[in-house]
Amino acid sequence: MNPFQFTRVTTPQAAISAITKQSGTYFLAGGTNLIDLLKRDVIIPERLVDINKLPLATIEKTSMGLRIGAMAKNSAVADHELVKEQFPLLAQALNAGASAQLRNMATVGGNMMQRTRCSYFYDTSMPCNKRSPVQAGPDKGQANGPIGCGAIGGVNRMHAIFGTETAGVRGTQPGPTDRSAKCIAVHPSDMCIALVALDAIVNVSGPKGDRSIPFAEFHRLPGDMPQKDNTLQPGELIMSVDLPTNRFADNSHYLKVRDRASYAFALVSVGVGLDLKRNTIQDVRLAMGGVAHKPWRLIEAEQFLKGKEATEANFKQAATLAMQGAKGYGENDFKLTLAPNSIVDALKIATKIAQP
Ligand code: SF4
Repeated sequence: MNPFQFTRVTTPQAAISAITKQSGTYFLAGGTNLIDLLKRDVIIPERLVDINKLPLATIEKTSMGLRIGAMAKNSAVADHELVKEQFPLLAQALNAGASAQLRNMATVGGNMMQRTRCSYFYDTSMPCNKRSPVQAGPDKGQANGPIGCGAIGGVNRMHAIFGTETAGVRGTQPGPTDRSAKCIAVHPSDMCIALVALDAIVNVSGPKGDRSIPFAEFHRLPGDMPQKDNTLQPGELIMSVDLPTNRFADNSHYLKVRDRASYAFALVSVGVGLDLKRNTIQDVRLAMGGVAHKPWRLIEAEQFLKGKEATEANFKQAATLAMQGAKGYGENDFKLTLAPNSIVDALKIATKIAQP
């Protein structure tokens, strides 16, 4: 491991100042992903700024819903009474992630910033456009290993079926929609699938001031810059996440399909929340994980379901709409079947019409 400087800060202003002053600086929160990246030389920092003492761990009610501080631990959010009562989809998604020990360390902001688990990304002897972009430089990432994408034509069982060069990027998909022939990695978080489904807002602070980003626009598709996972500007710090009040608490579910019952990333996951009046769907939110470079919102399926009866036939039609433009890369072709089946199952569980 290369030597690096280490600084501990206690205010957001000091954190922003520290990361702005020196290139090669990274924030250290729970460290549950960053330490792996350091140990494998995927990231070679000049300086780490420990932000664990920032006063950003509060979970509080607001006029619009709930505000969760960026430094709140995943386990604290999942166990919070207001989260369990009003946003059970978020609590379920958090508890589906990683292990109890990791959830006790991981923060909300860090969860959002975690990198893909594509195995080529973590092996510096293998080609990877995300780790070693074609155009390296201060603003374009560091050259670290061979360029190219090992997963395209390689081991890609866990990889994307949406948002890649030939796979669908539908016109109504919110946020940046750059397709990419350069990277087919998937975003690994469970929490973020719930947050995009719940129309969360990310509040950030940076050298140019404060701003709020709709969650669907926080993460990005790879396009020509696969090294860039999100739309944060240089020096920006995640301060909090806002959850607007909704009517989905009684009919929501996070379904995670994985290779083993615990401590595994999603092959496919589905987050669903519905507002039901008798059996008619007044409103619905649907999002998927394990299928794209960003949390994948199923806008067409949502629009189809609004006003419809909650029936298995309608759920199947919605799933068919959701899969338009999906493309497999060989080993991950099974997701083309697993994904729509999971959408139907998640909707059935959330509406309690039947257990799959
Ligand atoms: Fe790298 Fe992305 Fe290709 Fe994986 S899929 S090897 S992260 S460029």
